[in-house]
This record gives sequence, C-alpha cells and structure tokens, in this order.
Amino acid sequence: YGCLYVVATPIGNLDDISDRMRQTLAKVSKIAAEDTRRTRQLLSHIGVDTPCFSLHDHNERQKLDSIVHQLKSGESIALVSDAGTPLISDPGYPLVARLRAESIKVIPIPGPCALIAALSVAGLPSDRFIFEGFLAAKPKARQLTLERLKEETATLIFYESSHRIKASLADMAKVFGPERRVVIARELTKTFETLLDASLSDLITRLDVDANQSKGEFVVMVKGAEKNKLCISPEAIKLAELLTDYLP
Ligand code: SAM
Repeated sequence: YGCLYVVATPIGNLDDISDRMRQTLAKVSKIAAEDTRRTRQLLSHIGVDTPCFSLHDHNERQKLDSIVHQLKSGESIALVSDAGTPLISDPGYPLVARLRAESIKVIPIPGPCALIAALSVAGLPSDRFIFEGFLAAKPKARQLTLERLKEETATLIFYESSHRIKASLADMAKVFGPERRVVIARELTKTFETLLDASLSDLITRLDVDANQSKGEFVVMVKGAEKNKLCISPEAIKLAELLTDYLP
C-alpha cells in the first residue's frame, strides 16, 4: 500500500516551508488540495510540479473510494489545505477516518497551525485549552455555544474572520461579561501581525476606534472562567466556622 501524508503549509509566511514539507510534496504521485489554484502557487514557489486534484468539503465523500483505490495500488498521496494544518477547521477528516479504518498508513508532516501559533504567544494559560473552531454565523446559535462554554475554566480558542469578529466579540461580552480577558492574534506570520490583549469591553472599543484592527484573519483566545467561583455566602462561612467548634 501507499500512504497518505497530511502536510501542513504556511499560514501566511512562505519561509515557514520546511524541507520535509517540500520533499514530501515532491515525492508523492498526487496532491489532494482544498483549492488546486492556491496549492499550485505554493508548489511553483518551491519548484515542485506534482499534479493536484481538488478535495474540499463538497466533494470529499465522493472521492474517498477512488483515493482508497489509488493508495491500495501503491501510490502515495499528500493532503494539503489552503493554509495551516489539514483537518483543523479544514477538509480531510472523512478521508483520514476512512484510511485509519482500512489500516492504510497516514503520516503527518507537521507545521504551521494558527491556533497553536496564537496560543504559544498569548500569555494565557496553555496547560488546558478548548478549540471551538468557527462560531456559528447566526447570532442565536453562536450565543448558545457561548452559553455552553460560560463556566469552562480552560482557555477557549476560536477562529474568526474579519466579517464577524466584532459581532462575535460583542456576543462574548454579553455571555461571558465585559470584564473577561481576551487576546486576539491577527494576521500571524504576515506583515500586519498584531496581538491585542484586553478585557472584552476594552477590545471592542479598540476595534471600533481603529478599523484596521478588524481586518484580516483572527484567532480569538478567551481566558477560562475563574475557578472556585462557587458562591459561598459570608453567612455560610461564618456558620461553618461556628460549627467546627462543635465537631470532634
Ligand atoms: N487549517 C488552518 C490552521 O491550521 O490553522 C485553519 C484554517 S481555517 C479555514 C482559517 C482560519 O484560521 C482563519 O479564519 C483564522 O481564524 C485562522 N487563521 C489562519 N491563518 C491565520 C493567521 N495567519 N493569523 C491568524 N489567524 C489565522
């Protein structure tokens, strides 16, 4: 059998291409690409001319049988998305799940991933985090997701586009409270890379004042809810103290 290489590609800066990424894309017989035009641009930049075919959310399931067939006949294939790591808010999950089920080898060629790059510089707790991908476009559904996460103590990570960044931050302020700390990482590895760190309400004001701050691609990271927010009333604490005198 051949194998599938899941290859991460740059999220903005082409200097993040690794030797292993280049060698893998050059040696496989085909590349499954989310957008073949974008991938050809990347390939021409690195001097690779491996043929590409499209594999995106709308055709992935139809193409599974043929990809499995090609791999079983000994071909190796690389999977890439438009930017970053495939399967992370990008196509590839049905393919990888199917190959794993059929015991066909899947090999990662690790590299850029916006959420990991963002978390590594945010200065928010990084020992536990929850990646939620993109919030829903519709306000109701978005707010329901946020409600579910309200008491979560791990750092929350979201992907966001310029169209919805303001609406999402406004909903977060509504559900998590305006004081909750948030860090947004914009245009990572690109010319206008910016990291903003503030309370939700201050950040919203900042984006209102400076329109440039809502342009580009974002990772939004929200500090988890405070631990021990168990509301014990002062009376209850007093009572417990009094009672300890009577306990053995
Ligand atoms: N698979 C990609 C990865 O590994 O990060 C993510 C693909 S997803 C379709 C695109 C989203 O990732 C953008 O809307 C943005 O939220 C985030 N993103 C991608 N590149 C970014 C960058 N350079 N700076 C900040 N966020 C980025």
